[in-house]
Amino acid sequence: MKISALKLLEALNCIVGAVVRDLSGKFSASTKALKPSEVREILALTENRKVLSLAGGLPGPEVFPKEDLARIAARVIEELGDSALQYSPTLGVMPFREAVADFVRQRGVKVLDSDRVAVTTGSQEAIYLLGMTLVNPRDAIIVESPTYLAALNVFRYFGAEFIPVPIDEGGMRTEMLEDKVKEARSKGLNVKMIYTVATCHNPTGVIMMDDRRKELLEVASKYDLLVIEDDPYSFFVFDEVPFTPLKTLDTEGRVIYLGTFSKILAPGLRLGYMIADRQLTRTVELAKQMVDLHSSTLSQYVALYAIREGVVDKTIQRARTVYREKRDVMIEALEEYMPDGSHWFKPKGGLFAFIYLPSSVDTTDMLQMAIDRGVAYVPGRSFFSDGSGSNAMRINFSYLPPDKLREGIRLIAEAARDYIKAKASGS
Ligand SMILES: *Cc1c(COP(=O)(O)O)cnc(C)c1O
Repeated sequence: MKISALKLLEALNCIVGAVVRDLSGKFSASTKALKPSEVREILALTENRKVLSLAGGLPGPEVFPKEDLARIAARVIEELGDSALQYSPTLGVMPFREAVADFVRQRGVKVLDSDRVAVTTGSQEAIYLLGMTLVNPRDAIIVESPTYLAALNVFRYFGAEFIPVPIDEGGMRTEMLEDKVKEARSKGLNVKMIYTVATCHNPTGVIMMDDRRKELLEVASKYDLLVIEDDPYSFFVFDEVPFTPLKTLDTEGRVIYLGTFSKILAPGLRLGYMIADRQLTRTVELAKQMVDLHSSTLSQYVALYAIREGVVDKTIQRARTVYREKRDVMIEALEEYMPDGSHWFKPKGGLFAFIYLPSSVDTTDMLQMAIDRGVAYVPGRSFFSDGSGSNAMRINFSYLPPDKLREGIRLIAEAARDYIKAKASGS
């Protein structure tokens, strides 16, 4: 990211580095692939400043069921403290794993007899464990273009190559899928799997149509690919859009389903889950033993009681109402303020919208101007595996209260107009 505040941070690090010893020669070769997450860097920049952040991926704190969780947490520690504060099995405590299986089944996700639920420290750990257990350098992964940047970063770390497939209002353009697979194979790549956020896609909010889901699974079957269905959002879709989880359409046990309590309860609990064939979950278990032994026992019991007492359902209802309202405020503000030539998808769910500005705008370049005006977003480029998307940006609509959200969009539009004007006059 070419922004001066970041340069400043780097300079500060250099100064610290000069005082301490230079340790870079000690780092392992694999650290070469580590790069800072742009979102986290921006969050660091906007911290302690009066910047309206549309950059993060934070749920609205007004959705957190604080009183219910306070009561449940106290009860769990008082009544079950001996187990809830203790070490526990790597794949999760059994009553919670069973509750998760029932929870997703009741919402239309098919769990096969040969499947196992693996509790993870957020979906992020599940993605990491899948990187560890499935990806060899030069394995190719098919992704939506754009896609979830934290998944790109993990798979890239394990040496994966990407095959980006464009999306539109109906999700991944699956009619291109087979040709993409053939092309990659002819280049000698081992096409191993498809990673998709099929429902309320991050960053665009679109939902993949069912006929495309079927086509995706047909191609997966024909070329023997695994499918990772990363599904944090499908339980609180805003509009009535029919869709079927890939996991439910799958008859061959090739879909690995990832869920999380981050968006339907609280991300601070750090609880996610993977539902997949037992052979895979067993391998993931061995990897997870090394990474963190197990996910928080306390969080698992708290979430278990939150499910049993209907607190999760209540939070899902509230999330749907609150976020839909904010989505509508955002769309109204975009229509009112954004410069001509901008376009976006209307998100059907999730926490984000992806905006394309006129092609003359470079959103990475423009970010400093926006921050100076008091607003932050994530430049679009990081969501593309091939570096395209320079005129795009992701904005979050779940976190800020509606009036601040509106103001943030007005400020972004203002920055964009100034940027376009400056560019046109050659300065
Ligand atoms: C928010 C989100 C997650 C959740 O990550 P956690 O580690 O469970 O907090 C996973 N995938 C996508 C696409 C997301 O948007």
